[in-house]
Parts: sequence; structure tokens; C-alpha cells
Amino acid sequence: MSRTRLGFSLLLLAALGWSDDEHGSEDSSHPKKKGPGHGPWSYADVAQWASMFPDCGGQMQSPINIDTSSTSVSLELQPVELAGYRLDPREQLRLENNGHTVVLELPSSLTIASGYPQEYRASQLHLHWGSPEGPGSEHTVDGRRYDGELHVVYYNPSYQSIKEAMRQPGGLAVLAAFLQVGPEDNEHYQPLLEQLPEVQEKGKKTTVDGFDIKGLLPTSLSRYYRYSGSLTTPPCYQTVNWTVFNQTVLLSQKQISLLETTLQGDHEELLQNNFRPTQSLHGRKVLASFQAALSPRQAPIPDGGAPPVTPAPDGNTESPDGAPGAGAGCVPCADAEQQLGFSLRTADVLAGLFGVLFAVTALALLIYVHKQRSQNQRLSPQAQGHLHGSHHRQEPGIDAVLVPGPGL
Ligand SMILES: [Zn+2]
Repeated sequence: MSRTRLGFSLLLLAALGWSDDEHGSEDSSHPKKKGPGHGPWSYADVAQWASMFPDCGGQMQSPINIDTSSTSVSLELQPVELAGYRLDPREQLRLENNGHTVVLELPSSLTIASGYPQEYRASQLHLHWGSPEGPGSEHTVDGRRYDGELHVVYYNPSYQSIKEAMRQPGGLAVLAAFLQVGPEDNEHYQPLLEQLPEVQEKGKKTTVDGFDIKGLLPTSLSRYYRYSGSLTTPPCYQTVNWTVFNQTVLLSQKQISLLETTLQGDHEELLQNNFRPTQSLHGRKVLASFQAALSPRQAPIPDGGAPPVTPAPDGNTESPDGAPGAGAGCVPCADAEQQLGFSLRTADVLAGLFGVLFAVTALALLIYVHKQRSQNQRLSPQAQGHLHGSHHRQEPGIDAVLVPGPGL
């Protein structure tokens, strides 16, 4: 019975576990001028970023490791809602290899309508990835690094432009989603990935026909982490309200490999491992829109280490528009595992309840049979003989009554 009570407690905790708040962002401009706050940079010299860009040495830097056992559930964190993401194919979007990543510019008509205290407007999206030797997400969850990470960058329209907003507290928001190898191609990423060869060299640009940008994000936008941080590239402005989704996005191994081995950075070298090491929290709180602490802890994976094979299609079989949720993956894998764990606990509770119901039904029948026998003993010998003869026929009758019991 204590197990049943534990199950009910977990049910209650899960029911309470979700919320909303606000988040951060990231930038695409990289000053070329010399001197503090300017100059070229690369992922090979991250330790020198702070000497050229003072904010990179600040105490609210990104990315971070999300320790799920230290997150705080915030009941104010509402599901993220997006508006205007299904773009007409006639709309041309600029795609560029800027030497650090591939950037897809987005119309400002794409907005975050809910999930933050104010509206944010889109500016661009880009990706971070690793190499065939190791994963390359920027954020990590309980020490685990994922294969890649999508960043959709937004700005607060209270400011004139993203260049102004990125210098103001709360000026930017970034929606981040982990990319993970799954069993099949993710068709939503094809419009972007098939253009990569067109921007192979640093500085190359092309255009992409408008498509459903929302398809690049997880199908579930209600479970996420939120914290205040920075751009993960110089100038590292600490003005980003970050949202890191719990559900991952699945791409095929072929698609991830294309990302890892197509683009070039400086000196025509392959652009790989374009992620910044995780930064100290310095006392910052990471909020969760759900009861993340219920997630099973995952074994930490050293940076650059091979990711465990976790083909974990989640339970979301449909996207909000009713289309099949192709490519929707398990979350920072805690999600699917958590959901699985929760389902198992729920099954335990239900099994306990049915067990009790069965026992009560059986007891009632025993009492009934006992009373019937007592009545029979008070009848005439003839009647007793008749009933005795029919006793065995009563057995199936009891079974017939018992059968529906457990089915209740
Ligand atoms: Zn980024």
C-alpha cells in the first residue's frame, strides 16, 4: 500500500509540474575592427575571447550545463506559442555561411506570442554541431552533450533593431533545441540542409524558399528550461533570455553527418565543433516549466565523448497542425525516460488498485457462497441432494461472476 501512496504522490507532483517565464538570445554579427570589443575570433581561442570582448568574462555567460536536480519549477512558465511560421515558398530567405555557423535570416513577422512576459520578434536561426568524432550541442543536461543545437534568435520589438536590443537587458530571446540522431530523415530540415553545399565556403550566401520554420523546433513547446544568459559568441552580451526545450529534435545520421562535414570556416578548414564550453552559473537560477527533478539522472558524458545511442522516439506522434511528427525526438532524453518512468509508476498504481478491487470482489463472493451453503444445509435432504448434484455446476457460475471483477 505504501507503494500505492508513493504512486499517488508522484501523480500529484507530476500534475503540479509545469510553468513559464522568459528567456535569452544570441547574435550573428561579428565585428571585424581591432581593439577591445572588436576583432576576429574563433573557437580555437575561446580562452582569449574575454581579452577582446570584456562581456565574455562576465558572470551571466552562456551556454551552461543544466543540472536537472538543481532546477526550480516555476508555475509562471507557460507553454511557448509561436505565430507566423508557415512561410510561403515564394518568400526568399537568405542563408549564409558566416565562418562560424550557417545562418538563416527570418522575417520579423515570426513571433513568440506566448511564453515570455512580452512578445519577441524573430531575427535569424543557426546551428551548432560537433564532428564525426563527437557531439556538439552548446548546452548540456546533467553533463550530457547532444549531437547538435538549434538556436532561433529573437529581439524585443521595444527596441529599434536587433543591434540595439542585443545591448539591452532582456533585449533578446533565444529558443534552443537539441538535435539528436534518430532512425530516419527529418523532412523539416531538408530545405535547409540541401542548400548547405551552396554555402560551403565562408562568406557564401544563397536563398531558401520559404517553408514551415516551426517544423525545425520540437513538437512539444511546453516543457523547457529558462535562465538569463548571454550570446554564446563574441561580443557575449549578457542580454539573452534563454529557453532550452526538453524535447529533442531527431535527424538521421546522414543529415547530422552532412552538417558536420560540409561547411568550411577559416582557411578552408571544415567548420566543426562550433560550440563554446559551458560557463559557470555564478549563482544564477535555472527555472523549469515542469518537474524536471523527477527525470532519471543520466550518466555524464565527457565533452567530445561519443554520445550514447538513444533512439528514443517520444510519445508525440502528431504535431499541433495534425501532421505526423516526423523528427520529433525524445528530449534531452530525460523527457522520454521521464515519461516512461512516470508511465511505469502509473502502471504500478493501477495494478495495485485492481488488485484491491479483485480481492474485495473475491471476498464478497466467498461470503455469498458461504451463506448459500448455510441455507442449503437448512433445506430438506432431497433438496440438499439436488443442490449437491448441482454444486459443480455452480463453479462455472462463480467463475463467470469472478471474470468481470478484474475488468472493472
Ligand atoms: Zn548559437
